[in-house]
Amino acid sequence: MPEQKYVLEKIFQANDNIAAENRYKLDKAGIYSLNLVASPGAGKTSLVECTIKMLKPQFRISVINGDIATRFDTDRAAAVGAQAAQINTGGECHLDAMMVKTALNDLSLAGVDLLIIENVGNLVCPASFKLGTHCMVVVASVPEGDDKPYKYPGTYLKADVIILNKIDLLPYVPFNVETFLRGVRILNPNAEVFEVSCLKDLGLDRWSNWLSTKIRSPR
Ligand code: MG
Repeated sequence: MPEQKYVLEKIFQANDNIAAENRYKLDKAGIYSLNLVASPGAGKTSLVECTIKMLKPQFRISVINGDIATRFDTDRAAAVGAQAAQINTGGECHLDAMMVKTALNDLSLAGVDLLIIENVGNLVCPASFKLGTHCMVVVASVPEGDDKPYKYPGTYLKADVIILNKIDLLPYVPFNVETFLRGVRILNPNAEVFEVSCLKDLGLDRWSNWLSTKIRSPR
């Protein structure tokens, strides 16, 4: 249906324009930014908490949490020391650039080094809407299964970083790391991959070192 394609192209173009405004604003403020994308329960908020705890001695961190309802995740980010803003999408399965633009107006950006945007839990729609962030992080988790890169190629294709969380559960569930990584590499040979457990504090130093270097890089 050509009309539908035309309308979708217009929507994505309008979103891209606002995403570019967001990026300009973040760059001007010297802020490095992440867009965390994952299925519900993969551990996005746990990763946010761990990242804040590790980096807050060196950096000032702000968080934007996207959820259909509640402000549970914003409260968790604030409890560990970040300035946090909530977006409730009221049913939308993803954040878009306009929602982030509005949330950026609610935050005080002066002195902030890192902005983490936790997207709505969903492996399909969030990848289609640019937010203006510097880095898209896909969080996968061991209990979800090793087939996710194959089933959601659009999301894995666009990721800059892939974090495999809950590796402490590898002895207990059928998950083949080689199968998972093969799927990742077929789609996205250049993505950084980190294998971690937020709950058991495994592999997180490598992630925080990598992120610290990115935050310090000039932009
Ligand atoms: Mg969450």
